[in-house]
Amino acid sequence: MEDTIAAISTAMGEGGIGIIRISGNRALDILIEIFDGAKNKKIKNRYFNYGKIVKGKETIDEVLIVYMKAPNTYTCEDVVEINCHGSMISQKKILALVLEKGARLAEPGEFTKRAFINGRLDLSQAEAVIDLIKAKTEVGFDVAVNHLEGGFSGVIADIRNDLLDVLAQITVNIDYPDEDIEDVLYKTLESNLKLIKTRIDELINTAETGRIITEGINVAIVGKPNVGKSSLMNSIIGENRVIVTDIPGTTRDTIEEKVSISGIPIILTDTAGIRESDNEIEKHGIMRSKDKFNQADLVILVLDNSKDIEEEDLVILKHIKDKKVLVIINKTDLKNKINKEKIQELIPNATLINTSIKNNEGIRNIEIAIEKLFIKGNIKQNSSYTVNNIRHKNLLNKAASSISDGIEQIENFVPLEIVEIDINNSYRELGEIIGETVDDEIIDRVFSKFCLGK
Ligand code: GDP
Repeated sequence: MEDTIAAISTAMGEGGIGIIRISGNRALDILIEIFDGAKNKKIKNRYFNYGKIVKGKETIDEVLIVYMKAPNTYTCEDVVEINCHGSMISQKKILALVLEKGARLAEPGEFTKRAFINGRLDLSQAEAVIDLIKAKTEVGFDVAVNHLEGGFSGVIADIRNDLLDVLAQITVNIDYPDEDIEDVLYKTLESNLKLIKTRIDELINTAETGRIITEGINVAIVGKPNVGKSSLMNSIIGENRVIVTDIPGTTRDTIEEKVSISGIPIILTDTAGIRESDNEIEKHGIMRSKDKFNQADLVILVLDNSKDIEEEDLVILKHIKDKKVLVIINKTDLKNKINKEKIQELIPNATLINTSIKNNEGIRNIEIAIEKLFIKGNIKQNSSYTVNNIRHKNLLNKAASSISDGIEQIENFVPLEIVEIDINNSYRELGEIIGETVDDEIIDRVFSKFCLGK
């Protein structure tokens, strides 16, 4: 018999209400033992039931409970949710009581894992649950919702179906070889497989955008002192700040802020005021930590329109050449002294943007430029096709490479039995994405990323 599991499902801390969730076939029995609104033992399925959680004669809290009978529940098992007051004391006391009555504390993600094991969600949908909870921007959230609804799983299922057709063609011809049509058959198989490979490649191409909308982009603002870096940072933050909880271990060496620009999470790092160091890069105020600088997906170099390029600017330019760069020519309200052609010559790949941060001009153009540099196509429209998970990306790469192997065999007229192995591999690798062909270790790893109570 499966254990009945329980956990606090709302966030730790004070709140209006707190929810303790119980799942498993003892959920209702446990509730009846501790709920005094249940004296008549009639707890209506799928109704809010009012009463008290009691331990002997002691009242623990006044609650509303919902009992949801299997199988149409989150986990496909009997589920009980106890809505108590949102005090940690109340929640912990109720949980302790539930555990005392025979439930086991749920592991992180175990409710969702049961939804997967019981077939209500596939693995990529379960992963979308984490993405949805952790999404920091609307775009990331939209993609996660779409994946949870099965949009992405549907795309994978379609591709696998087409692979099955190819496998069927191969099997028939292994069993009943027909020498006459062999040439035609090889050609058909080749073109079908190439089409499938193109579709997988298209998915792989979205992974960079997917990574960006989930993890965000690291942007380093660099430039010599007094050009307007802090002003720029403040003006971007002003409109776009996202509220984030402190992440333990984040260094405070540089000033970091998380913002959302056109739905893209952006981690802005300012280097203002960081000067004293022997290291050349650091000396010129680019970055306190080289690592941070190397990690940057985008460098925003701020220059002063009212001064010509100086040695200090050139040193910075030299260091950022191989990066994606936006050059901000700031202080356009002052008389122009900077030579823009020369800058473009020195750093041909960079986009130049004029701003007067003081007058609040040009900021929006920076945002548009960032969007253009990092987001391909309309994510909202294509959210079924956006790969936002590194595990999925790796498996798609494997599947694409198996198909390439298959195509190569076909081009060399290798016997179909051998081709079949490659196509089967690809079919299995795609299956791992949705959890159809996947081992327990991977499943455990996926669910270990969840928070407690989900
Ligand atoms: P940082 O050292 O690069 O961080 O530069 P700050 O943001 O501290 O700005 C340095 C000075 O330039 C401040 O006095 C700002 O008010 C001023 N400043 C910033 N942007 C502009 C601008 O667009 N025009 C003018 N005229 N002054 C600006």
